[in-house]
Formats: sequence, structure tokens, C-alpha cells
Amino acid sequence: MQTAIPPSQLQRPEIAEADAILRSCVHCGFCTATCPTYQLLGSELDSPRGRIYLIKEMLEGNTSSEKTRLHLDRCLTCRSCETTCPSGVQYGRLIEIGRNEIEIRAPRPLWSRLVRQALLAVIPYTPRMRLALLLGNLSRPLLPASLRRKLPRSRSASPRPPERHQRRMLVLEGCVQPLTAPTTNAAAARVLDKLGISLLSAAAAGCCGAMHQHMSAAEDARGMMRRNIDAWWPYVDDGIEAIVMTASGCGAMVKEYGHALQDDPAYATKAARISSLTRDLSEILRNEDFSRFAEIGKGKRVACQSSCTLQHGQKLGGVVEKILQQCGYVLTPVADGHLCCGAAGAYTLLQPALSQQLLQNKLQALEQGKPEVIVTSNIGCQLHLESASNIPVRHWIELLDTEMASKSADR
Ligand code: SF4
Ligand code: SF4
Repeated sequence: MQTAIPPSQLQRPEIAEADAILRSCVHCGFCTATCPTYQLLGSELDSPRGRIYLIKEMLEGNTSSEKTRLHLDRCLTCRSCETTCPSGVQYGRLIEIGRNEIEIRAPRPLWSRLVRQALLAVIPYTPRMRLALLLGNLSRPLLPASLRRKLPRSRSASPRPPERHQRRMLVLEGCVQPLTAPTTNAAAARVLDKLGISLLSAAAAGCCGAMHQHMSAAEDARGMMRRNIDAWWPYVDDGIEAIVMTASGCGAMVKEYGHALQDDPAYATKAARISSLTRDLSEILRNEDFSRFAEIGKGKRVACQSSCTLQHGQKLGGVVEKILQQCGYVLTPVADGHLCCGAAGAYTLLQPALSQQLLQNKLQALEQGKPEVIVTSNIGCQLHLESASNIPVRHWIELLDTEMASKSADR
């Protein structure tokens, strides 16, 4: 695609990066077929190609209006279009730059800014989120049913095995997951312990920064990245084997630390090292010998929701499914597995109508094969699916952990 961005703008590295991405798009439109918002709304401006055009127009100085922001806001950043694109257009990065620019060129109304700032001030901070959940759950009986189902309950953690193996890995606890699904990391620690790996945690690490990064608060996001790098670095120096992510949304973000901090002389090298050490839990397991657990699934019927950050963001589609099959689970068919469930960070709160439509479509697809349980690999998807599912929704590692524990008890 030809572009005509003013040379003064091209001096800014992020605009030059956007220009290169725009030029890689040949406008073929293949991506529209797999875009969830295009499927729902049928409008070119709610397709990847349409949004690419809107960003190009804005950067060329032609238009940067409320209309541009509306269509950029509706994008889930699911990156399904990236998986489909034959030209390798880095749409995820382009929309991030586009969103940062629209905030500058056509600022939001005050109310919208306040809502977004409130979300960013609470959700990524565990103590604040704990308080918000406590207050929400205390007033649960007074809430309308629709809101009640959306409000996650705080859950208590289960015990983790002590550090006892030579092989050691770090795990990111994250921000929301320790409150709403603390069993996930405990289950990961128990499963890895059985495979001869101790899973450690750095208390000073926190939110990965994804929510800030995707909501045009890049500097705050970089602050979170630096804090996590500082928290992890002593373990890296100590020879940790990997940094394990049990939430694929966080994994996709931490794998980008190297890129996000490439211009920071104090952190660029460390950030690149952190990204190179980062693995989704499924990447760890697929390389381990868990043949002794080959039959633990006992033919249980499972529907696997492949989160966008796993299949499109990290290009790890099919890995969890293979692990589950090797453990003896039967995967039920899931139509349109490439489509987003509508969780997408704060999307469920900021775009409730589209988010709910996508959720209903996803649940219909997941429940079609009559599974006993639905599994996912991302806390956001888990909470979103749970809010409306009649079938239990769990992180896939919890499933393995439960069956492994019952197999050990049977012995
Ligand atoms: S993003 Fe890729 S698939 Fe979509 S129009 Fe551009 S080149 Fe074609
Ligand atoms: S990221 Fe997802 S919602 Fe956004 S344009 Fe691409 S496919 Fe559509």
C-alpha cells in the first residue's frame, strides 16, 4: 500500500514503524473473513482492512475523528487477522500505535477518559482489585442478575509443593488471577513438581502491563515491565530455566518486553533476555515426558477454548489440545475456534453489547459437542465464559492436576 505520511511525522520511531506496517498491507481483504467484529457488524470500517485504512488516513493527516476512534475501539486486538494475513502484516502493533495517536489527535470526552482511568487504576493492582471484589461481593444480593453473573468471586489458594528440584522455573502470579483463580498456579506447581521441576514466584512482580499497553497508557505499562524485570532478575542471574506464564494474555505481553523496552538503554538487554526466557505453560509441558499420565483423562469429554493470545498472539494453537489428547481426554468439536470469545481485557466492560454477542456465539460453539468441562488458558477468557456458561470452565492445567491427584490416590 502507498502511504503519504508527512516527513516530520516519520521522524518519530513509532510512526516510521506504523508506516512500514502499512506498506506491507496489499489490501487483499483476506483478513476480513476471520475478523469477529466484521462478522458481527458487516461494515468494512469494522474489519482489519478498514481499520488499517483509517489509521493510514489519520497518520497522513487527513482525518482523525470520533468515527476513527469508534472503529478502533471496537477492535478486540484478538489478532485473528494476523494469523490469516498472507503478507505478514503486524496488525497488533499497528492498532496499538493507531490507538495511541487517536488519543492525542482526537481526545475522548471527559466521561470516557474517567471510566478508562478508573479501570486502569483498579484492575491491574491486586490489593485494589481485592477491595473492589470484596465490595462487589458484599453488595451482590442488591445487584441485577446480569451484573451478578459478571462479578467474579474471590477464591482461596490451594497449597503448593516446596522447592525441592534442581530444575527451577519462575511463574508470573499476575494481578487478577491470584484473586479469582489462585488454584491455576498452584495446579501448575503441582504438575511441574511431578515432572521434576520446582515452580518459584517473585513476590515483587505484579501485573504484566498488558491492560495499560492496550489502553494507550504505554509509559505506565513500561513502568510495570521494568518492575517485573527487577523482580525477576536475581532469579535469572541464579540460572532459572524459564519464566512460565499460565495466563496466555500475560505471556503474549511478556514476550513483547524486548520490543517495548528496546529504546531504554538501562533495560533493553534485560528485557530481551526476559522475553527469550518466557514460555507459555503448554510450551513447557509439550517438551516434557508425561507418558505416565497418558490415561488420566479416562475419555472425559472436554471442549477446548483456544484463547486469542495463545493461538494468534503466541502462535501456539493446537498445543494444549495435543497435550490433553495425549493425557487421554476426548476433545469435542468446536466450530469457529479462531474467533474471540469477547473477553479481550476490558472489552467486556467497554463494549458490552459486542462482547456479549461474541460470548453467546462462543458458548454455543463450545457446548455443541456436549462436553463435561470447558478448558481455557487465559484468566480473562475463563471469567468471561464462566459468567454465562452452564458447563464448568477451568484452566486446562487444573484438569490435569485433579486427575493426577486422583490417580496418585488410587495407587
Ligand atoms: S492485513 Fe493482510 S490480509 Fe488484510 S488486507 Fe492487508 S495484506 Fe490483506
Ligand atoms: S484484531 Fe481481531 S477484531 Fe481487530 S481487526 Fe483483527 S481480527 Fe478484527
